[in-house]
Amino acid sequence: MHMIRVTVWNEYIHEREDPEVARIYPKGIHEAIAEYLRGMENLEVSVATLEEPEHGLTEDRLRSTDVLVWWGHRAHEKVADEVVDRVYRRVVSEGMGLIVLHSAHLSKIFRRLMGTSCRLKWREAGERERVWVVAPWHPIADGLGEYFEVEHSEMYGEPFDIPPPDQLVFISWFKGGEVFRSGCCFYRGMGRIFYFSPGHETYPIYYDPNVRRVIYNAILWAKPVRRGPPVFGRVDPLEKL
Ligand code: ZN
Repeated sequence: MHMIRVTVWNEYIHEREDPEVARIYPKGIHEAIAEYLRGMENLEVSVATLEEPEHGLTEDRLRSTDVLVWWGHRAHEKVADEVVDRVYRRVVSEGMGLIVLHSAHLSKIFRRLMGTSCRLKWREAGERERVWVVAPWHPIADGLGEYFEVEHSEMYGEPFDIPPPDQLVFISWFKGGEVFRSGCCFYRGMGRIFYFSPGHETYPIYYDPNVRRVIYNAILWAKPVRRGPPVFGRVDPLEKL
């Protein structure tokens, strides 16, 4: 079996500063996600956080990461541009997969890859979110029903200032009436990117079996295609001219 090497990255601030968040995610959001992924026999899982040297995303670490999962909220601007450049290159030029979660819609790396503001509407009222599968044939929808519900969620609403996704997998409806493109696939260069919105820090959303399944499915979808680097530049003809 070919193992997929996954790094789960988290800024890891709310969980250390806010007792309510610490109660829900005592080891951090990254560990809540990693703990589930470690149960998958085809994944090799590690974690990295903002305060580590180079945010734990050294050249070596990235070279040995097939798919990077990213959660951030409070400290997007504290992520060094040099590290963002490195992640960007690894995605676009080398095909590392990137899974962007919830409030990481405003992360430097996602905004760089999208080229837009990535702003949206939001409301924190713990309302019901119904996540509709709009591409039932897509691998990221594997094992899900027609829809699933998150009982207490933060509302993220349209307009969401992103380029049109290459494939939309989920659209969420919120009890307050808004809708949102909550699961979006993008191709950028060699890389695949999946944005998935459920996952606020004061709700136990990363323990939800459907949410976890989506993250796992997205990792399988986003993993790099294993082939040599592309050939560019002048070449000799394959047939006699
Ligand atoms: Zn949030």
